[in-house]
Amino acid sequence: MHDALISEAAEHFGTPLYVYDADVLRGTYRRLRGLLHPRVDVFYSLKANPNVSVSALLRAEGAGAEVCSPAELRTALDAGVAPDDIIYLGPAKDAPQLRACVRAGIHAVVCESFDELTLLEGIADEAGRTVNAMLRINPAQRAPGSALTMGGKPRQFGIDESEVAGAGGFLRGLRHVRVMGLHAYLGSRFLDHEAIIRNTREVLRLADELAAVLGRPLETVDFGGGFGVAYFDNETDLDEEALASGLDEAVGPYAAAHPQCRLITELGRYLVADAGLYVIRAVSVKDSLGETFVVCDGGTNHHMHAVGIGQLVKRNFPLRLLSPYEHDAPRHLYNVTGPLCTPTDLLAKKISLPRVRPGDLLAIERSGAYGPTASPVHFLGFGAPAEVMVLNGSPQLVRSRDTVEDLLSRQRLVEPVPTPPT
Ligand SMILES: *Cc1c(COP(=O)(O)O)cnc(C)c1O
Repeated sequence: MHDALISEAAEHFGTPLYVYDADVLRGTYRRLRGLLHPRVDVFYSLKANPNVSVSALLRAEGAGAEVCSPAELRTALDAGVAPDDIIYLGPAKDAPQLRACVRAGIHAVVCESFDELTLLEGIADEAGRTVNAMLRINPAQRAPGSALTMGGKPRQFGIDESEVAGAGGFLRGLRHVRVMGLHAYLGSRFLDHEAIIRNTREVLRLADELAAVLGRPLETVDFGGGFGVAYFDNETDLDEEALASGLDEAVGPYAAAHPQCRLITELGRYLVADAGLYVIRAVSVKDSLGETFVVCDGGTNHHMHAVGIGQLVKRNFPLRLLSPYEHDAPRHLYNVTGPLCTPTDLLAKKISLPRVRPGDLLAIERSGAYGPTASPVHFLGFGAPAEVMVLNGSPQLVRSRDTVEDLLSRQRLVEPVPTPPT
């Protein structure tokens, strides 16, 4: 995407703005699809970016959907994902959520506790339906190599591996819920392909264990994903080729031994991060006690991720100046901040940029995942930014920015009742 096109979108739709490049989205999906074992289905985790147009584009490329809330389920359906290509996860699914899954006729509910299976059994009975369920297992093994580990720790997610062996009677005794699959998700932001491959082997081993407990072959195994992208200068991107060939070795024999089993990898960040830019405008550039601040119209209220995910030392997302500048222009160190009245609203610290002037546009790259919906968009009442998708060279609005009216419409003014002074 050319800077001129992004600037044009910023002029037309205003800032702060998220811009998604449809060509990059497609490109990432196709590249990965081409590398993965043909028996592995790719499901898009809407949590990473729940915009309906993003989902629709990935659906058009062949992705299924992994959803975790009623709104995400609706989004996937609106995006045209076939119900049989949707799975629904989440540790706290209540009866209305489970009923929505049953009504929609999705591929499977990923059940995270025995309580949930019991609740689903009642709901399926009431609906006169048989409902597919996959068990989410919390593996006993800890998964190293992830920035956010899941396995081998006390977690609210899934059922502990150690509980599975003793649960055969209960699972086989369900009459309206058909436990037909396994799900495991061992962490996020893996940049080491070896770790992903090891995890996949581990999940496939668990799958054989669950099949033995159930006394029948599994129909679906979702071995997770958590493929990362490099954000910071101390990180490098996954080696896709090595990942794909290692996964082939892990998945190939399992797929051959289980010809009827559907294999799924669920990916959020990896599919969308690279396709998104967060575009902001410098409102003021000023010095304070020897440091220079570029104060912008958008900040961590839309891009909390840029604060530095779980880092002790502040690291900067890739950020560039969009406004034109000479290539050999001298560079300066800037702190890039947003509109919030808190010093933590810091998008980049001591980042080297050509001279920035008020009115200039800046873009944070690799921002397509965990943007506005993972940020405190309501803090100070600025609301969610506009989102644009560039399709065939033309920027199209895929979410309008919140207005003051949108933000305030749900509040109710209760007039204070005068009370006599005490
Ligand atoms: C968050 C999450 C995902 C998506 O993770 P990414 O790191 O964005 O790929 C997938 N599955 C589960 C269970 C999750 O919690």
